[in-house]
Amino acid sequence: MRTFSDLSIREKLTAVSVLSSGLALVLACAAFLAYELFTFRQTMVRGLGTQAEMLGYNSISPLLFTDSDAALSLLGSLRADGHILSAGIVTSAGQLFASYARAGAAPATAPNLPSEPSGQRFDQGKLVLYRPIVSAGKQIGRLYIESDTREFDDRVRLYAAITGLVLVVSLVVALVISGRLHRGISDPILGLVQTAKTVSLEQNYSVRAVARTRDELGLLVASFNEMLSQIQNRDRALQQARDDLERRVDERTRDLATQAQELARSNAELEQFAYVASHDLQEPLRMVASYTQLLARRYRGRLDANADDFIGFAVDGVTRMQTLINDLLTYSRIGSQAKELVDVDCETVFDQAMQNLTTSLRENGATVTHDSLPVVRGDVTQLVQLFQNLIGNAIKFHDAAPPRVHVSAQTAGRDYRFSFLDNGIGIDPEYQEKIFVIFQRLHNRSEYPGTGIGLAICKKIVERHGGHIWVESQTGKGSNFCFTMPNRKGAAT
Ligand code: ADP
Repeated sequence: MRTFSDLSIREKLTAVSVLSSGLALVLACAAFLAYELFTFRQTMVRGLGTQAEMLGYNSISPLLFTDSDAALSLLGSLRADGHILSAGIVTSAGQLFASYARAGAAPATAPNLPSEPSGQRFDQGKLVLYRPIVSAGKQIGRLYIESDTREFDDRVRLYAAITGLVLVVSLVVALVISGRLHRGISDPILGLVQTAKTVSLEQNYSVRAVARTRDELGLLVASFNEMLSQIQNRDRALQQARDDLERRVDERTRDLATQAQELARSNAELEQFAYVASHDLQEPLRMVASYTQLLARRYRGRLDANADDFIGFAVDGVTRMQTLINDLLTYSRIGSQAKELVDVDCETVFDQAMQNLTTSLRENGATVTHDSLPVVRGDVTQLVQLFQNLIGNAIKFHDAAPPRVHVSAQTAGRDYRFSFLDNGIGIDPEYQEKIFVIFQRLHNRSEYPGTGIGLAICKKIVERHGGHIWVESQTGKGSNFCFTMPNRKGAAT
């Protein structure tokens, strides 16, 4: 069922004004009706009272002389009034002395009169009125008249009909007028509602509500429109900023893509150059090396002492150069001669690396332990090289204490995190980035042998497998070389 709050604003306004004007009208009509009926009753009583007093006065002598005929003829004069039902004269002893009843009415019997001498009452559609008959200051009897109230009832009906008619006509007029007048209030509100709906459904802030009046509603509509304009302006500014940003991001992405392409191309060129150069340099270098070694073997002690030293330096330099060229070739092969990635069990990789490091392990009295290691997608040769370089370094860079290395791997999000923990000399945090750059070393060859390419190779291998490598260390407190490698299961999900 619809309640008042469910009604539309127009219906509410109409209901309020029709109800309030209807109520006011009903109250006014009721007051008027009550007043009219009260007055009419008073008039009726007054008229009948006058009649009763006149009859009472005239009935003094019939009563004094017990002349009932005279009393009857006196009462018979009431016949002229069609509303009088009955009348009677009652002696002071309370006996009915003479009575009159309208033709067709029941024979008159004295009604039950109260003790007071004068009065009237409305009783079951009748007005019973009684007055004292006084002679020489002494009440000698009472006269009563019973009248019907038809005239009063007719008046009530007439007034009710008139009031009803006035009510209906007034309500219809109120309805029509309020309908017209309320349109002035409800139309702007409905217009506002329609505009708000359009805005919220279509997100269209260009629509405007029409302000027809200059009252509070007009002000409301104007404020609403102003609000829409502000939102529209802000929207426009936001859209423009977003477009600008998108354009700039696009430009930057394009620039970056071009730069990345350029970088990849120059990297590939560089790699190719390093590979070709180191490969092609090997042959002449091998020739220089074998001839300087031949020179050293054949002419040692046969030239002067300086010559022996010079030949020694030349042999040493050539040998180092060969090692460097070989390292460079290994480094450049990581990208250019890479194999397809397959499932590789790191336990096998570990075993292979350990086998390759047998001599070094024995010479340094090293202990290498490991946790269970996972299967990863990788290039087995490169992974063996990676393990071998990291374990090899951990054994090589030790001080007085015999080297201890522990290899482990843990799941870290979608990756595995490998750790190569040693008890060696450690690395100053300042150099922890630098050591991954090709040919960068922190010690000279007399302290620890090497060319400075091992970690650069490790970095290249890890990155080729989709991970990254870093070291956590402090001088004198051992090192923990870590790298990530995608977890096959994590990558699959
Ligand atoms: P190389 O071993 O030939 O010197 P690397 O690239 O393998 O070259 O290492 C670079 C440098 O990083 C080393 O010279 C050494 O100073 C430092 N380094 C590498 N591994 C360790 C380690 N486990 N403990 C201490 N220092 C290390």
